[in-house]
Amino acid sequence: MTDPAPCPGIEDVRSAARAIEGVAIRPPLIRSDLDENLWMKLETLQPSGAFKLRGAANAVAKLPKGVSGVVCCSTGNHGRAVAHAARALGIPATVCLSELVPEGKVRAVEALGARVIRKGRSQDEAQREADRLVESEGLVDVPPFDHFDVIAGQGTCGLEILEERPEIETLLIPLSGGGLAAGVAMAAKALKPEIRCIGISMDRGAAMSVSMEAGQPVEVEEVPSLADSLGGGIGLTNRFSFRMCKDLIDEVILLTEDEIYRGMQALYWTERLVAEGACAVAHGAVLAGKHKVSGPTATIITGRNVDMTQFNDVAQGRDVTLGGVTVEGSPWTTS
Ligand SMILES: *Cc1c(COP(=O)(O)O)cnc(C)c1O
Repeated sequence: MTDPAPCPGIEDVRSAARAIEGVAIRPPLIRSDLDENLWMKLETLQPSGAFKLRGAANAVAKLPKGVSGVVCCSTGNHGRAVAHAARALGIPATVCLSELVPEGKVRAVEALGARVIRKGRSQDEAQREADRLVESEGLVDVPPFDHFDVIAGQGTCGLEILEERPEIETLLIPLSGGGLAAGVAMAAKALKPEIRCIGISMDRGAAMSVSMEAGQPVEVEEVPSLADSLGGGIGLTNRFSFRMCKDLIDEVILLTEDEIYRGMQALYWTERLVAEGACAVAHGAVLAGKHKVSGPTATIITGRNVDMTQFNDVAQGRDVTLGGVTVEGSPWTTS
């Protein structure tokens, strides 16, 4: 194996904090109504709707001079973040999407000022088109989590939490590719080494959790989930986020779809928040008895780009069908 590349540290997070100023906001950290010791960082309020703007804005700001533009291939929160950050910093953005991506999502990316190229019939083919543009047009690919500047950018969220409430003892962090968890845990432990960092994923298709157990990145089958932003692999050639999560995450909690469903209901009925299933994992873990809040604790409400029909179905206690599997609903009660 070649020498591992150095991972970002707290100075990179401080530098990111300066770089993203004026693009990302500093959302409030508010007290939960579920537990008076639980605090929630409302990344749902970021322009483009998710914390991913932090990493994307830092990566775009740190591009070498004279780069002709950036490229990525996500319809989700990362694609929006790259398009938004690039526009804010005056750099052209290209988003490669497969021909199967629905028109509405294509228009949403175009509305953020990005050039959209439709190519192929899968995410992999769209990624190959992005790779081709890196070669032919000199564009720089901005990946969603496994990137030095992206992780340093996500770390600013942890820095803000600890600056505002240094008494926080535990962080409950939604975990997928691990860019958020790596950055936040690194920044938090730099300021407070004894802080406990807990990653939370769904119990099926959680690539980072399976990889941490295996001691190396492994592929898992992706399955539909209420926490759809937590799906996807970590990449077999992962360079940063896997090593950082393995070193910095003290515990991983895995939730069933029923537990995520309950968490989403708690967000709605208790917190009066509309947010993605990925944001409901801390509430889901607490309600399921998989985590007991003891001492000041913070979680990150990561994004608001939820399917409103599905969210409404969950809030109302109706059944939700995901890729042929039905999560049985029941009305919210607080007993
Ligand atoms: C990307 C994302 C996550 C997970 O972040 P990772 O860095 O991939 O672990 C969680 N919630 C939302 C809303 C996201 O968009």
